[in-house]
Amino acid sequence: MMGGYGDVQLLKEDGTRLDGRAVDEMRPVEIKVGVLPAAQGSAWVKQGLNVAVCAVYGPMEAHPRKIQRQDRAVLDVRYNMAPFSTGERIRPGFNRRAREISKVTAEALESVVLLERYPRSKIRVEIEILAAEAGTRCAGITAASMALADAGIPMRDLVVGIASGKIQDTVVLDLDKAEDNYGQADLPAGICPNTGELVFLQMDGDLSIEEYNLAMEYNFKAAAEIHEIMVAALAAKYGGGEA
Ligand code: ADP
Repeated sequence: MMGGYGDVQLLKEDGTRLDGRAVDEMRPVEIKVGVLPAAQGSAWVKQGLNVAVCAVYGPMEAHPRKIQRQDRAVLDVRYNMAPFSTGERIRPGFNRRAREISKVTAEALESVVLLERYPRSKIRVEIEILAAEAGTRCAGITAASMALADAGIPMRDLVVGIASGKIQDTVVLDLDKAEDNYGQADLPAGICPNTGELVFLQMDGDLSIEEYNLAMEYNFKAAAEIHEIMVAALAAKYGGGEA
């Protein structure tokens, strides 16, 4: 949530951020697939201090019957933050925020998964945030698209989750916890790296048109970098260099 504490210093004299990053520099990203042996597909994403794990089960017959679609599969997406994922223990349970993030994540993934291949089926996508330091919905989306790929579910493209935002009237890429808490705006996006399509977009706080354009330029640049890491993670398990 954007706190809007305009007086908190988040940029240093030399224009770099408190953790030493340049304004257009993302946090380090590491990705692995096939981390959960029981799942059809799985992925682990570390982005800065965030850790997201995703498990994919299915396609399986959709139950109860009333959730079935005759012509396509349904995605059953659940985002959850582990109680130990933040310094202050989180009350377990499916709250309003988790429900909202699950819904927008499902919508992003529905844009790329070839659901019509699996009529009357369900694909379960479980995202668990093990460590949360701002940007978890983005790490979760990246992890989910990797776990779906690992499960062999056909997709038109992968989805990269990445956010830019505004701190001290300056547009920056990939806000960390302090920047998210005390910053002015946050613009998380879901980007298809091959098609350049946008399948998810939210905005918290205000950006001018110029600021929005710069934030999206940063998001697209980072998505290309993260895509390379995703491709390398798939190649590490399956061989090859194309995805
Ligand atoms: P995102 O994680 O996608 O940036 P938010 O902007 O809602 O989503 O949350 C920013 C950060 O605030 C989270 O990554 C997490 O570190 C922290 N946070 C969110 N919800 C809670 C909560 N219920 N208790 C403690 N910290 C939380």
